[in-house]
Amino acid sequence: MTATAKQDQPICVCLGLGVDSVAMLVGMEQRGIRPDLITFADTGGEKPATYLYAPILRQWLRDVDFPQFQTCRYVPPIATYRTLYENCERHETIPSLAFGRKACSLKWKRDAQEPLRKRLPENVQAWSAGRKVIKCIGFDATERRRTYAAVGKELDEYDYSYPLQDWGWTRDHCKRVIADAGLPVPVKSACFFCPAMKKAEIHELRRTDPDLYEKAIALETGYREGKHWRGDAATTQGLGRRFAWATLPVIQDRQLTLFDCGG
Ligand code: SF4
Repeated sequence: MTATAKQDQPICVCLGLGVDSVAMLVGMEQRGIRPDLITFADTGGEKPATYLYAPILRQWLRDVDFPQFQTCRYVPPIATYRTLYENCERHETIPSLAFGRKACSLKWKRDAQEPLRKRLPENVQAWSAGRKVIKCIGFDATERRRTYAAVGKELDEYDYSYPLQDWGWTRDHCKRVIADAGLPVPVKSACFFCPAMKKAEIHELRRTDPDLYEKAIALETGYREGKHWRGDAATTQGLGRRFAWATLPVIQDRQLTLFDCGG
């Protein structure tokens, strides 16, 4: 379904502060679709450029009279860690994506936003009237087969909408739309220690944010020297899954142009 399908349903936007979700907001504004809630789940380990983008987007939201986005973070019920990085560090591990699971994004991204949605009066009203809330997710048209894996109660509470796929917006088109709206194009949003990072992105992190790169390596070392390490035959060697980031050769700046970061 599209975000325009039923205007009697509240609309909640999942914001990652990256290209896709920002383009989704621009497209919604162009179509006169005003969200009721915009939430950004901060793992505490986003890239500096992502945090720097937040005030830029806040100003744009004010300019177009959209509701301001609300930042949220997963709060563990008992443990004392405050970020995904600390969560991994305490357990001598690395994000679960490195092991082929998605617990890190489910807990720190998906679940973190839920309390804000549950408290929104428009949502409470819709649910009590037996209506679903629309949850808009910025999967672009190049990820056409990618959908959100809703489970359990979520299926009764939400209709999932992928506006960029409905509009046929590819990632490159999203970048153009953002630039045409007068906004800088944001960097790809992800934790600075995300196992999904491509080699070119790892080299880029080492070049632009050496301190964060070293923190990522420290996390990986903690895993490789910790209680979960299964030795050199382990399937997950480090943050690169089948390889440890620390084993990547240093690439000189002039060689980086050979790589495509993919935005
Ligand atoms: S960006 Fe990567 S490490 Fe961070 S929550 Fe998402 S999958 Fe996990």
